[in-house]
Amino acid sequence: MNNQSLALAAGVAGVVLMSCSTSSPNPPPAQAGARTAPKNSPTVRQATSPRYIPPARPRLQTPAEPTRPLRAAGQPVVLPGEKLLASRSAPTSYSVKVRGVEWVSLQRWGALQRGWYGRLRKGADDSLHRLVIAGMRFDLRPKRRILTCQGMQIWLGFSPELINGHLYVHHLDIRKHLTPLANGMPSLGRVAVIDAGHGRDNKGTRSVFNKKYEKDYSLDWALRLKPLLERKGWRVFLTRSADSGMSLTDRVKFADRVKATLFISLHFNAAARSVSGLETYCIAPLGMPSHLTRGHPDRVNTQVANNPWDESSFMLAARVHNQLLLSCRMTDRGVRRVRFMSVIKGQKRPAILVEGGYLSNPTEARKIDAAAYRQKLAEGIAAAL
Ligand SMILES: [Zn+2]
Repeated sequence: MNNQSLALAAGVAGVVLMSCSTSSPNPPPAQAGARTAPKNSPTVRQATSPRYIPPARPRLQTPAEPTRPLRAAGQPVVLPGEKLLASRSAPTSYSVKVRGVEWVSLQRWGALQRGWYGRLRKGADDSLHRLVIAGMRFDLRPKRRILTCQGMQIWLGFSPELINGHLYVHHLDIRKHLTPLANGMPSLGRVAVIDAGHGRDNKGTRSVFNKKYEKDYSLDWALRLKPLLERKGWRVFLTRSADSGMSLTDRVKFADRVKATLFISLHFNAAARSVSGLETYCIAPLGMPSHLTRGHPDRVNTQVANNPWDESSFMLAARVHNQLLLSCRMTDRGVRRVRFMSVIKGQKRPAILVEGGYLSNPTEARKIDAAAYRQKLAEGIAAAL
């Protein structure tokens, strides 16, 4: 699926994605005092912070080409079917202000990271801008809100813009997407809360294949994941290990109580029958619009409790999404930002929500019913942690 049809499909999904509710019926107002970052807030990268290991590369692999050797930093990376276009001189300024908003030159920012930058033609498309940092390939296009990192889709907050022939990226995307990816994976601790979505009367969406409910599949996924993580040294707490109910805010309180260092909520999706693939959600940073609102107001200038973990939540999402694509070989619908999801926004730790496929799509509904697929979903997440 190309970017345009993906955007189109996402637009459709955004309208009809109502059955898999992951928010409170009436979203509460922003918490008082939420603007104060916790003492060990990971938003500022410090060598002395116990939350971080020394900068390690996230080792994101291209699902389509997992064994392709990566080249050294600074080397041109041109894949088969691509042509390197003549280089232009770099823009004179690192950033420009457009109506008071800072936009950063991709080429100049890349040079600061000691990366390689080039413009490429791929088929008839000559709008591809590539940055390679430490062997990791970032591809961007003007007016497309998607960054691909090693071929994996990451939805940007804002579409990059061509200004005087040079590609400029919104400063929030530089800070909240490109910089964390270039810096590598933060330490995620060793205490995981795995949240099987829904439960008891809250049944979730329903499979078009056999009318089974999302709550049963999400529980099975969580039960498969727990032993895999424990084998890797994690302490794992499940929000539920049977068909029991728990409110969304209680799931957040539960993670507080067990002092979780990360939180992963497991769900399956529903939309039009034609929509398929994997999505991974994390919190939208202050000032950045969400990719999905499900009819909730998207208050971009209101801080929520998870915002101090913007970068680590995003890196957890990118890492998990990447490994799920490798493990499950599903359509990539990208890492996306949301603000309304109660199980995410109230968390004081890296927190993500994974949609492991569409129960509304006949092919995926059949797949999700297979235990082998749900095992792959569990193995994908375990491989990321
Ligand atoms: Zn759900």
